[in-house]
Amino acid sequence: MPEKDSFSGGVTVDEKQIPDEEWRRRLSPEEYRIAREGGTERAFTGAHWDRHEAGTYRCVCCGEPLFGSDEKYDSGSGWPSFYAPVEGAPVREVEDRSLGMIRTEVRCGRCEAHLGHLFPDGPQPTGQRYCLNSAALRFDDAKRADAEEEKGVDAPEKR
Ligand SMILES: [Zn+2]
Repeated sequence: MPEKDSFSGGVTVDEKQIPDEEWRRRLSPEEYRIAREGGTERAFTGAHWDRHEAGTYRCVCCGEPLFGSDEKYDSGSGWPSFYAPVEGAPVREVEDRSLGMIRTEVRCGRCEAHLGHLFPDGPQPTGQRYCLNSAALRFDDAKRADAEEEKGVDAPEKR
């Protein structure tokens, strides 16, 4: 690695190359446990499950806009739930065989942060439920000028 500080502004960073200790420094212990170690926050404890403001939910690690209030719905689960990511968001689905179950893990495709899980019991139009951890998401209530086209977008149809 060159000695330049690759985390300073203006430098293009490959977030997947950021070492663990850097994430540990950047994130709170709870954010680190969930986003980098695949943890889960307790239901009804996070900052976003009952949030209704308009805005964008960004990856807590890399800041990528991933989910929007337009696709958020009240699933009753105690975790922020969405029926689709925002259009073009690098949301990745990975098979998760932990805890003796086969589930679909949801990750940020830019930095591999663990966000939550995907279940096929969501509302229309997708029928999908992205059940996420508040601690993996940072809410941004700024106007989303570039995200107005997201209505009507299908969820990624992998497998
Ligand atoms: Zn990310």
